[in-house]
Amino acid sequence: MSADTAPPRAAGTSDEDLAELGALLAGLDLPPEDPESIEASRSYLQALAPGGWLVPGWPAEWGGRGANGATAARIRSALRKGPAPDIYPFFVGVYMVGPTLLAHGDDSQRARWLPPLIRGQHVWCQMFSEPGAGSDLANVSTRAERTEDGWRLRGQKVWTSRGPYADWAICLARTDPEVPKHDGLTMFAVKMDAPGVTVRPLRQMNGDEHFSEVFVDDVEIPDSHRIGEVGQGWKIALGVLSHERSSIGAVVGKARPAARDVVPRWLQALAKSGTLADPVRCDEAMSLYVELEVTRLAGARSAARTRAAGRPGPEASGHKIRVSDSRKRRAYVLTRLLGAEGLGTGHRSYYDLLTAPSHSLRGGTDEIQRNIVAERVLGLPAEPRLDRGVPWSTSRRGVT
Ligand SMILES: Cc1cc2nc3c(=O)[nH]c(=O)nc-3n(C[C@H](O)[C@H](O)[C@H](O)COP(=O)(O)OP(=O)(O)OC[C@H]3O[C@@H](n4cnc5c(N)ncnc54)[C@H](O)[C@@H]3O)c2cc1C
Repeated sequence: MSADTAPPRAAGTSDEDLAELGALLAGLDLPPEDPESIEASRSYLQALAPGGWLVPGWPAEWGGRGANGATAARIRSALRKGPAPDIYPFFVGVYMVGPTLLAHGDDSQRARWLPPLIRGQHVWCQMFSEPGAGSDLANVSTRAERTEDGWRLRGQKVWTSRGPYADWAICLARTDPEVPKHDGLTMFAVKMDAPGVTVRPLRQMNGDEHFSEVFVDDVEIPDSHRIGEVGQGWKIALGVLSHERSSIGAVVGKARPAARDVVPRWLQALAKSGTLADPVRCDEAMSLYVELEVTRLAGARSAARTRAAGRPGPEASGHKIRVSDSRKRRAYVLTRLLGAEGLGTGHRSYYDLLTAPSHSLRGGTDEIQRNIVAERVLGLPAEPRLDRGVPWSTSRRGVT
């Protein structure tokens, strides 16, 4: 089954197609953005889905355009010139679950989950972290036990962003505790309204309530919700995380990078407020702008490497460190430049300031990204792993 009910698109993207995209974007009439509602981003996805514009690199059969790297970059550049609602609610689905299903799902899973995902009909969340498994993610203890018809899941997840309003979760669970920790994991899709799933929202210091704890009490799921082979969960999880890291800062929406021909909104606001008239402040703002541009270009280079290799690799970790650093710096510099005005509750800059520390944690901490770069890029000695070859059930928990 194809992802679109419309007749299949002709392969390739011509200048006329891009002009069509420009016209589509110019005519978009989106609901106003509202932090309490996901309707603006949902309408945006609905408008882009028939043309495969949001996921141009995906095969046309599954809702993309089969575009190569250069064409996908042209499409992203065209998208940046249009309206860009915050597509945060759909980030996990579009940028992490979609590519994972393309790589590891079967056709019936792709047919079932990809179309609603790119049309903004389903929100996905990522249920990986647990109280005892964050940086040491392979220590996941949520159990999935075989039943006659499928699997029974039991355990607790934490820091599940989007949990309070997600329809589906991609969930890492332990299917075999008697093998070394990395070998006994399997990936599942879990319906968030299934009996036994309880979501408890957690409030962040920036006021957001995207976070949650998720309790999974004897949740029955069919075997058709298993993604990939039994015992392949760790390999699939690494792919999901690499997709997350390589997509952070490289997507449309709130987190979009400044296009070369667009002055970013924060710089426009500073110019309008007269802040740039002061040469010292102007200098600081311009050096921030340059840093963000370098991050954007380095991100494009890392994305090109990912495309050439056919899968994200350790370059995604380098990209993630740069994005975390520059987002934090942007928050701190803007707070300084805006002074008291930027510290008013409700001011965007105040929200960004309170969000800043989280950039070094979400998607894997800076320390863990540095470990990955050290081992896999620089070839430095790996950390000692005391539980190598030891069954998870007998290993010392929390020791890598
Ligand atoms: C905003 C936000 C959103 C998130 N969203 C999700 C989500 O949707 N789904 C999800 O599953 N998780 C999510 N997380 C969880 C996130 O992935 C974890 O917080 C992160 O992996 C760190 O795990 P931890 O909090 O258990 O810290 P720990 O692993 O306990 O780490 C504590 C400290 O020790 C350091 N450390 C640990 N091990 C090493 C080591 N080997 N070498 C050097 N330093 C080390 C860490 O860098 C950190 O500074 C989110 C987190 C945040 C902040």
